[in-house]
Amino acid sequence: MSTIANIAANNQLILTSPNGTQFTNNTNIPKELAIFAIYHAAQYDGKPTTATNLSVSDFLTPMRKLIYKIHNPAINELTDVSYIMKSAKGTAMHSGMEAALEWYGGYKQEIRSEKTIDGVIVSGKFDLIDLETNTLKDLKHVSSYAYKKLMLDIEKIKDMDNSMSIKERLEYIPTYTKFQLQMSMYKWLNPELSLNPYGDIIFSLNDGGGMERYPIDNFHRFPLLLDEEIEEFVVNHLTELKQHLADGTLPLCSDAERGWKGPEFKLQRISPTNGTFTTVRGSKFTDEVKFREFCRKSARIGDVEISTPATATMCNYCSFSSICDQPL
Ligand code: SF4
Repeated sequence: MSTIANIAANNQLILTSPNGTQFTNNTNIPKELAIFAIYHAAQYDGKPTTATNLSVSDFLTPMRKLIYKIHNPAINELTDVSYIMKSAKGTAMHSGMEAALEWYGGYKQEIRSEKTIDGVIVSGKFDLIDLETNTLKDLKHVSSYAYKKLMLDIEKIKDMDNSMSIKERLEYIPTYTKFQLQMSMYKWLNPELSLNPYGDIIFSLNDGGGMERYPIDNFHRFPLLLDEEIEEFVVNHLTELKQHLADGTLPLCSDAERGWKGPEFKLQRISPTNGTFTTVRGSKFTDEVKFREFCRKSARIGDVEISTPATATMCNYCSFSSICDQPL
């Protein structure tokens, strides 16, 4: 049964945002918070994405998802308000920050600029420029999981082949490259502002910094990519997109793009020391054939096999997950 049919059957509350998008509230988020979420999630002043009108964020989106967005298919499944709560809090924080900095002075904020490349309008709106140093800054209200991924990417940079293209870096160090690429594209869109060749991402973690493992409010400085590198990336991306649209093809999202984590298998056994189930040493596998081989040689009567299915975390937050047929 579709979500809409379910809603009709259960007489559930449907919330309609200012731009007409409907949401379910299946986790019973308090009504006032749900209203807050649908109100702020609708605050986007750019034009809708089409084959000839793309935003900076569209260049950070997986190609498959971007093509779905351009085709704008009818989606019967409604998004649950719980999936937009974090981004709504982020949008509200942006508005609050903008008002505070406007009052304080010394900042240029929220200017939308555009360039036309190969017949496609590419536009983007930066958060702020600190006029004291002419430095681009962008506020991110992200989870400690996203922040951890950034830390892991930074670790990998020292072993990175510097001749990698931006597209290859998006696979190798995706979180770092997306932040860097976004700010670099804003700089590329605004050559007249003569911005510094680096930019800051201001982080405000939205889930308590992972039990204070990470500082909740802090920043990271990113060297910005050269305008020529950005221009080449944009042209290549548009060429690839146009080819898919012309051929009617839909590329698969990569593992990094959909946050794919493979299945895991392990064997548990009652510990003679504390009487609870514990994982048998050496029994953890991501390959089921190897796990079965291990079980054949080492399993004992009473052992329990635990298998965790594959997951694709980003698909949970993708608006096209109900129509996407990429196998898990
Ligand atoms: S549902 Fe997952 S695989 Fe499909 S377009 Fe969205 S992110 Fe990609």
